[in-house]
Amino acid sequence: MTKTLTILGGGESGIGAALLGKAKGYEVFVSDFGKIKAAYKADLESAGIEFEEGKHSEKRILQSDLVIKSPGIPDTAPMVKALRNHGNLIISEIEFAGRYTPAKLIGITGTNGKTTTALLTYHLLKEGGFHVGLAGNVGQSFARQVLENDFDWYVLELSSFQLDDSYEMKLDIAVLLNVTPDHLDRYDNDFENYLASKMRIFEMLHPGGNAIYWMDDPSIGKNIAEFTRDLSVYPYTLSRDAAEISFIQNDRLFCVPDSIEISAPRAGISIKGFHNLLNATAAGNAALLAGVKGDDLIKALGTFKNAPHRLELVRSLDQVEYINDSKATNVDSVYYALGAFDTPIVWIAGGVDKGNDYSLIEALVQDKVKALICLGKDNSKLWTAFENIVPVVKATDDLIRAVRMAKELAEPGDTVLMSPACASFDLFNNYEDRGEQYKKAILAL
Ligand code: ADP
Repeated sequence: MTKTLTILGGGESGIGAALLGKAKGYEVFVSDFGKIKAAYKADLESAGIEFEEGKHSEKRILQSDLVIKSPGIPDTAPMVKALRNHGNLIISEIEFAGRYTPAKLIGITGTNGKTTTALLTYHLLKEGGFHVGLAGNVGQSFARQVLENDFDWYVLELSSFQLDDSYEMKLDIAVLLNVTPDHLDRYDNDFENYLASKMRIFEMLHPGGNAIYWMDDPSIGKNIAEFTRDLSVYPYTLSRDAAEISFIQNDRLFCVPDSIEISAPRAGISIKGFHNLLNATAAGNAALLAGVKGDDLIKALGTFKNAPHRLELVRSLDQVEYINDSKATNVDSVYYALGAFDTPIVWIAGGVDKGNDYSLIEALVQDKVKALICLGKDNSKLWTAFENIVPVVKATDDLIRAVRMAKELAEPGDTVLMSPACASFDLFNNYEDRGEQYKKAILAL
């Protein structure tokens, strides 16, 4: 008998899963409580897949043999609660697509640096001559690519939400970059829950699979032994005190998985900032373990171009550099962004606070930031945190005004950095929209 598959959420991953499910013989139904984009509806219509928007037809959905949930839908959504109470199996699109590809898989997770590291790992494999796809949180969904391509390898960017709903899928290489507080609203405001979700990436490895992780991260370090039994481990560190561990020293990175050893100078790595050296070490290890040759790897580290909105140079004007780091939506990423500059900084920050603890960056802000412009609907928390630390603090809910204020405050040799530490939904559609509007305002100066 034909099995029924319901997809909750008609975004990129949902549509991909629907198309793959249909091709594999499921009777597919897509249900989105909001609106589905016109292009996605056209995809569904031409594949003959039924869908609804603006509601969830609960009775029908509860009868599904299998449910795939978009990572954007929280467990507290009434439809998800009803499904769980009813005992329905809910999986991620990643888990579903993984069932239908024999390709080898590299999974990358962490609080910060996932996209950068996934893009870089993909670039390293591609330049190394591999037939490789990139999926997960970036670009086209994994499911759609499994349907349309026959890659030998995939690099998957995995958020904690995608890990949460994956059970049987097996990775060949897993990378855990760092774990710091984020998205706690989805984890009962308990960091341990969020951490456990990130550590699960190692449970998704084949026995003997390769676990790459930043061993200096206290949360990872504390738990790693328990999660990596029966695995091949490849830690990397800043303070090398043992052989066979990858490390960064004197502006060079050293990747030493197994008997291979390569080293690359910082100047030869196209992405800047200390955090990106860590990302490059993680990606370098993954690429070497996949079989990329050392010479190809070193060359490719120099030719990588990162996605926009991540420490992106927008313009130099009157000897002031304007940087767009709109993707920095938590305190930890701002920590690294501030650390990437040796100049005084005019810092634009603010938006929707996800439970930020600003005390973590107080010292750094005091050292580097000459002026703070709070940009959000409610700026009170940011203002209170820094009014006695930064010499000049201003606030606005208008991005163009914020950029003009920054121009007035910046002197030759300074950097204007928008690195918000917050989500963007109070004033913008998303972080991309915030970044694009910021760039436009700067180019108009
Ligand atoms: P993600 O996909 O995990 O959100 P991105 O690569 O898009 O990560 O980067 C998001 C933000 O985090 C950027 O502002 C970037 O500067 C910062 N960042 C990148 N890598 C790291 C890292 N290893 N540690 C801390 N912050 C980082």
